[in-house]
Amino acid sequence: MNGVSDGEQVRRIAAALTAWYGTPHHTPSDDPVGELVATILSQSTTDLQSGRAYQALREAFPDWAAIQHAPIECVAASIRGAGLAMRKAERIQQALAQLHREHGAYTLEPLRALSPAAGRAWLTRLPGVGPKTASCVLVFALGVPAIPVDTHVHRIARRTAMIGPRVGADQAHALLESALAPQQALAFHLNLIRHGKTVCRAIRPACNHCPLATCCPRHGVAP
Ligand code: SF4
Repeated sequence: MNGVSDGEQVRRIAAALTAWYGTPHHTPSDDPVGELVATILSQSTTDLQSGRAYQALREAFPDWAAIQHAPIECVAASIRGAGLAMRKAERIQQALAQLHREHGAYTLEPLRALSPAAGRAWLTRLPGVGPKTASCVLVFALGVPAIPVDTHVHRIARRTAMIGPRVGADQAHALLESALAPQQALAFHLNLIRHGKTVCRAIRPACNHCPLATCCPRHGVAP
């Protein structure tokens, strides 16, 4: 494979994962802007710390406009528990400014009508938002069928030859999405995360107990 996704292999793996793990469901957030701000806060810290910082931010300011226009030091003070407070405060204010400038309100609703690639392109213009973060916002908060490629998804995609050995995580998003029906995206992502944490681990993958063993070229020889 020369870096090009084998669509048949992606569909084969997706079917095997669904047969083994079932179809997980996720209820989309009713606050996509909040999800975006929360993902910015979550960078380089724990879920616990970023969750507390998000709560503190929302309690310190009455609405998104107040956060955008507050002195940056005040925003940073409210989120200091998440670390890198000045940088994250700046990114949050820049993101809110872009939303308001381009959508006329603090909303991500126009992104619902875009393809995953177009939505990702819009979101990755925000400072500090990469393809994985953008795809998480799209699929979890807006119901756009993006497939976030984190370390688990990327590792399994390479081992199982869904993508070529030199395909990076950023490039893998669109390759995987193009092989599946939109309604498969979320379950495929969630099943790969589960598989990566429990079976196809980075170190000592459990190949002998793997539901993908018959269609994985790295069976028994990973990583
Ligand atoms: S057979 Fe091994 S390398 Fe292949 S997906 Fe399963 S655990 Fe991972």
